[in-house]
Amino acid sequence: MARDRRFLIAGNWKMNGLLQDGVDLAKAVAAGSDGRKAELLVCPPATLIKPIVDAIGGAAVAVGGQDCHYEDSGAFTGDISPTMLKDLGCGYVILGHSERRAYHGESDAEVKAKAEAAHDAGLVAIICVGETEAQRDANETLTVISTQLYGSVPEAATPDNTVIAYEPVWAIGTGRTATPEQAQDVHDHIRTYGMATFGPDNWDGVRILYGGSMKPGNAGELLSQPDVDGGLIGGASLKADDFLGIADAAD
Ligand code: PGA
Repeated sequence: MARDRRFLIAGNWKMNGLLQDGVDLAKAVAAGSDGRKAELLVCPPATLIKPIVDAIGGAAVAVGGQDCHYEDSGAFTGDISPTMLKDLGCGYVILGHSERRAYHGESDAEVKAKAEAAHDAGLVAIICVGETEAQRDANETLTVISTQLYGSVPEAATPDNTVIAYEPVWAIGTGRTATPEQAQDVHDHIRTYGMATFGPDNWDGVRILYGGSMKPGNAGELLSQPDVDGGLIGGASLKADDFLGIADAAD
């Protein structure tokens, strides 16, 4: 089947970047954004969203948050609502990253509630799933992914409001990348499971990103897999040349 899904190359800056460095990085990405086939997205820390939206101006780089609350406002000290992200100019929000699941105890149900709130606010939710090394070694990868999808993805997910990111936990920040075949196997499973569970109309066009030590040197092979529709990039998104090098592989 011919691919009609547009690649999404998304940078997850995590808890990195002070004001000037962040603005400089975003400007360098914006300077390399012209005429690309792939859609570019940067997800800086919340403190940098507004200056980065301003720095990017009219360039073709979307901005996203790294998390949001499932309520829209209220007594939730330290949290940020999806409407606040939207208000600053975000189009996307990453949800259920394995670091949030591990360090903040986020459950599938919480991720789903956040995704629903993000949809209500008009944001595209990038919902992350992925197995640990022990789960892969125990041959539980596909079961773990199915359970996370079933629990984290709203029934009303569509290609317009939802992106899935497959991020094997053992590949995040470790320099160990899934092989293209390992990535394709899981992406194929995500699409097949999504179509069977949420309806084919909704899922054929849902973009599925790979994340975990993606770099310019391995991006081409990963992105050539039929069900890999882009990347969620951590470490390599902190250098404009590396991030744009991955985007080159998608063009
Ligand atoms: P990495 O992180 O590219 O540094 O492995 C990816 C992610 O956690 O989104």
